[in-house]
Amino acid sequence: MPRPIQATVHAGALRHNLARLREAAPGARLWAVVKADAYGHGIERAFDGLRSADGFALLDLQEAERVRQLGWRGPILLLEGVFEPRDLELCSRLNLWHAVHCDAQIDWLATHKTHQPHRVFLKMNSGMNRLGFAPERYRAAYARLAALPQVDEISLITHFADADGERGVAAAWDVFTRTTDGLAGERSVCNSAAALRFGQDAALRGDWVRPGIATYGSSPDYPAHDAAHWGLRPTMTLSAQLLAVNTLAAGERIGYGGLFTAERPMRVGIVACGYADGYPRVAPTGTPVLVDGVRTRTLGRVSMDMLAVDLNPVPQAQRGSEVTLWGVASNGASLSIDEVARSAGTVGYELMTALARRVPVVVE
Ligand SMILES: *Cc1c(COP(=O)(O)O)cnc(C)c1O
Repeated sequence: MPRPIQATVHAGALRHNLARLREAAPGARLWAVVKADAYGHGIERAFDGLRSADGFALLDLQEAERVRQLGWRGPILLLEGVFEPRDLELCSRLNLWHAVHCDAQIDWLATHKTHQPHRVFLKMNSGMNRLGFAPERYRAAYARLAALPQVDEISLITHFADADGERGVAAAWDVFTRTTDGLAGERSVCNSAAALRFGQDAALRGDWVRPGIATYGSSPDYPAHDAAHWGLRPTMTLSAQLLAVNTLAAGERIGYGGLFTAERPMRVGIVACGYADGYPRVAPTGTPVLVDGVRTRTLGRVSMDMLAVDLNPVPQAQRGSEVTLWGVASNGASLSIDEVARSAGTVGYELMTALARRVPVVVE
C-alpha cells in the first residue's frame, strides 16, 4: 500500500468556480490562469474542469506546449511574454499570444522572421513596479509595436497591485484609462480580486478577465471575505490517515523540540503528512484540521513526514482514520485552505502551489 496521503482535484468545483467568475464579470472573456502548473493542481488534471474558459494564461513555454498537447486550439497567453528571441519561434509555431513588457521584447520581435504576425498584450506598469512600461513610455511602445509587420494585433494589459486590499484599484485604473485613451485594442486588467469585487463595472472588467486563485476556490481577499462569501468551492483536498494514536500523560511533550506539552491526559493522532508533502512547517499548534470530518487542531512542530493532531474532540478516531488537511472530508465537512494558510502566516496560493510531487493526486 502506498503511504496513506492523497490530494484530490475536484473538476466539478473548477467548473463551478469558472461559472461563478463569469457571473461576476458578465460578458467578459475569461482566461483560466494555469501558471505554476495550474496553481499546483496539475495542468493535465485541471484541464477538463477548465475547458469552458476562453483561453489559458500561463508563464512557461513548456506549460503552453502541454496545453496544446491536450488539444486546446484556442487562445494561450504568455503573461510574462518571451524570455529570449528564439522563444518567438515557438510562439509562431504554437500560435501563442504574448505579453510585451520591455523594450528588449520589442527588439526581438522586430528581428523575428515569421509568416504569421503575432498578437501581443502590451503591459503597463500601473503602480506594481514589477513588469511593464511606465505610463509615460507606454504610447511610444505601442507605436513601435504597431509599426512592426511581425505584429497584427495589440491588446492592452495591466496588473493591479492592490485589487484585494483597501487601496483597491482606483489609482491604477485611473492611470491605465488615461494612458490608453483612444488606443485601439482589447483590454485586460482584472485578476481574481478585481473580477469579483469590480467585475460588474463594464469598463473596468474590460474584454478579458484573468482570474487565477478564485478559479481554484480560494478567496482573494481572505479574511475580509471567505470563499463561501464569493460562492467559490474548494478545488483541492489534501487528505491523509492517522498512522498511530498515542495517549499522552499530563506533562508529556510531542514532536521535535517538544513545543507542545499536554496539560491533561490526551489522545494524540500522528498523521501521514509533513512539510515534505507541502504542508507548511511554520503552521503552529492550533492550526485547524479535520479528523473523520471533525474539526480539531494540530499540535507541536510539523515534521518532514508527519504531524500530530489533538484527538480529544474525536474520541472515536483510530489508526487509519481520515485526516483532512484542507478541502473536503468524506462526510462533507470542509476546511478552507485560506484558514489553514492564515494560521501558517501565508496565503492559499502558497499552499496549493507547494503541494509536493510525492503526493499522489486523483481527479474526481
Ligand atoms: C497570476 C496572475 C493573475 C491571476 O492572479 P490571481 O490573484 O490568482 O487571480 C492575473 N494576471 C497576471 C498577470 C498574473 O501574473
